Amino acid sequence: MQRRSFLRPVVLLSLSLIVGGWSAWWSGNPSPVQDRSKTEHTVLAIVWYQAAGEFRALCYQAYNLARLRLDNHFLKNKSAKKRAVIVDIDETVLDNSPHAARLIKENASYPVLWNKWVDAAQAAAIPGAVEFLTYAVSKGADVFYISNRRVDQVDATVKNLAAAGFPQATATQMLFKDKESGKESRRQKVAQTHDIVLLMGDNLNDFSHVFEAKNVSDRFAEVDRLREEFGNKYIVLPNPIYGDWEGALYGYNYRISDEEKDAKRKGALKGF
Ligand SMILES: [Mg+2]
Repeated sequence: MQRRSFLRPVVLLSLSLIVGGWSAWWSGNPSPVQDRSKTEHTVLAIVWYQAAGEFRALCYQAYNLARLRLDNHFLKNKSAKKRAVIVDIDETVLDNSPHAARLIKENASYPVLWNKWVDAAQAAAIPGAVEFLTYAVSKGADVFYISNRRVDQVDATVKNLAAAGFPQATATQMLFKDKESGKESRRQKVAQTHDIVLLMGDNLNDFSHVFEAKNVSDRFAEVDRLREEFGNKYIVLPNPIYGDWEGALYGYNYRISDEEKDAKRKGALKGF
């Protein structure tokens, strides 16, 4: 009796899944399983970004450390050139997680709705970013925003940064992606006129070209080799939602299927 009552819902559920899957296929609509596979894997990272006090604490930690390093630089180094702080924009000074959250609802992936989000100029500041950069400018440093947003997105981004209270939010301080996504030449351009004190970003490529297009183990090796720079000249912001760390898992080929991506993510798991 007990067994029967347990089995019956299982059989009914199995039948409904088979029939549901068949009818979804028949009607041309994606099945619930396919629905889930597109975005489900990003949910926890986005919730952490938006709801974890630990995320905010890490951001403050990064910007507090940046302030210490900047003060230290002014104390210990004489600089013939004006000092510069270079920051990335996305997930370094601006929080785009509402765009990522919207993609969950839409069951879509980047770049869907990205231009609309940038044009809306509504991104909030990352905790601690406005205060630190305002402090840096008050000390006589210049801020350069080196971002892989497209050059035709400068105006909307300047509007967003200014509305969020960022200093030096003008087009001249924005070095956006024109032809190449690598940021080295843009960093060198800043170095011609400035002494670069700090680089801040959520992606290793925000710090040095040596990380570009590297696989996971080579990224590890470069991070280990440059370990002294982290917390000194390089200040890292947390981003578990996306980044080249994810691209490295896919061999930087984002065109592979969702199933292949899922397999590569799970293939990267180390268990015991
Ligand atoms: Mg970024």
